[in-house]
Amino acid sequence: MSQELETLIKSHIHLNGPMSVETYWNFCLAHPQFGYYITRDPLGQAGDFTTAPEISQLFGEMIGIWAAEQWNRLGQPHHIHLVEIGPGRGTLMSDLLRIARLIPDFLKSLSIHLIETSPALRNRQKEKLAGYDVSWHDTIETIPQNAPVILIGNEFLDALPIQQFAFKDGQWFERMIGIGERNKLVFGLSATPVPLNLPQAKEQDVVEISAVREAFTHKLCERIKSQGGAALLIDYGHDVSAMGDTLQAVRSHAYCDLLKDCGEADITSHVDFGRLKSIAEKLGCRTSLQGQGSFLKTTGIELRAEQILKSATEKQKDDIRAGLNRLVDDKQMGTLFRVMEIAG
Ligand code: SAH
Repeated sequence: MSQELETLIKSHIHLNGPMSVETYWNFCLAHPQFGYYITRDPLGQAGDFTTAPEISQLFGEMIGIWAAEQWNRLGQPHHIHLVEIGPGRGTLMSDLLRIARLIPDFLKSLSIHLIETSPALRNRQKEKLAGYDVSWHDTIETIPQNAPVILIGNEFLDALPIQQFAFKDGQWFERMIGIGERNKLVFGLSATPVPLNLPQAKEQDVVEISAVREAFTHKLCERIKSQGGAALLIDYGHDVSAMGDTLQAVRSHAYCDLLKDCGEADITSHVDFGRLKSIAEKLGCRTSLQGQGSFLKTTGIELRAEQILKSATEKQKDDIRAGLNRLVDDKQMGTLFRVMEIAG
């Protein structure tokens, strides 16, 4: 654990009492000086976790095909805001733009925006996308409101914090983090119950709620409704809201102790796509939800793989096939990762 961050968290608890999982999450990932995402590039083999765009160029290319299809569906407008939120190393956007270059009118219509809070990753994105005219933002609020938007977020939602609630003695309590024996951080429950209306709860059930993910989806859908456009949100999660503790911390490609490695580990939880889908639909948007494997196959990933295999060396061929398999196979990322499409 980052010593400075641990000291800060403990003094916050001494002053204010136990903190929610949401507050702890924000300290660990987003503290302006010591937060996990603020201080590093966590991606790739040498980092803590690997994502689909880092596994194969085919991933970003398929999203490029999806984006071009949206542009077509919208009637080939002369101006579109192409937005990626949480763009990591900029790899997805770079692969997407390789496809866009094949359709000059589409490429010409694009204003490219990246929404990114990490200075370390912004630098990586600047290097990767040198040669393109890109603007950076801290939030979706500053994306200009004068044209339709096509927004992409891969493994963005899972970086936004959740609250957890546990059912005990017939009532819901919020899970909190306090200080236990030998000055160690420990989990506990809020002193007073929380009025959650969830029927059929059983003793020890845990439920996760993310006000931040919901507020983002709300803003995005309002934007799509008023200006037109589409969004693609990809993450691990479930299509139907369900009970369960999915909070996890990952460091060097392995699970680790959430309360020990704060600031040094990625913290995530499964995305409740069922809940986000119903928010989008209430606002009048159309949605679809499917596995990553089925989305990529329908978009033509196998054809594109065959195309690039033709000019590849033997070693490259093995890598292309392995990457493709990892992205689409049901036992790998094909089913666990969900693709939610939102359209105005
Ligand atoms: N999409 C990339 C990176 C996923 S990691 C990929 O697939 O490889 C999560 C990304 O979200 C990182 O770029 C991180 O810095 C960014 N991020 C985390 N919290 C954010 C926030 N509140 N607003 C914008 N970006 C955020």
